Amino acid sequence: MPSVFVQGRPVDSYPPLAPDARRGSVRRITEVGEGVLHKPCRDVTEFGPDLAALIDDMFLTMYVAEGAGLAANQVGVDLRLFVYDCPDDDGVRHVGHIVNAVLDPLPPAGRRLLDDNEGCLSVPGAVMDVPRPDRAVVRGLDKDGEPLVIEGTGYFARCLAHETDHVNGQVYLDRLSKRERKDALRQVADRREEVFARRAANTAALSG
Ligand SMILES: [Zn+2]
Repeated sequence: MPSVFVQGRPVDSYPPLAPDARRGSVRRITEVGEGVLHKPCRDVTEFGPDLAALIDDMFLTMYVAEGAGLAANQVGVDLRLFVYDCPDDDGVRHVGHIVNAVLDPLPPAGRRLLDDNEGCLSVPGAVMDVPRPDRAVVRGLDKDGEPLVIEGTGYFARCLAHETDHVNGQVYLDRLSKRERKDALRQVADRREEVFARRAANTAALSG
């Protein structure tokens, strides 16, 4: 089985960082509590160089923050778009972007929920167990407006569900109990500075 899929298609080889990142600039990552993260994003209707440049910035910003996925509202842009560079449970790496993504509803009968660790670049420093389906299919468009279907299993399914939540105006804390949310926010208070120092060091390393 090929070990890297880009835009849902297998490729023979791929660099450690998506080439998009080299053209991008690092943007500030929004944090839980900022309005843009808590309302559904607008559909992308303009496909062109501005959208492509935003995707480049999002890739670089995601790598600097050592994330597996990043939605546009996490860099303060109210658009239905996310990027990802995420392994699944079979060691396959998935890289790409998707615009106006909608998650396929899964029939409850065939649905299996997995509990696994989940973090979010907009909830810096917290890691919590979140139940998610073991399979996800998202439908949308690529940056040229061409239809795109991305399917994931295991940890990549979790990523697709997490990022689709973002463009729908939800963060993973919304899926936790009140007590768990408090625990997550305590972790943020403890580790936020450390996370920001690491991002600053990565920014210097990747820009140099
Ligand atoms: Zn997130």
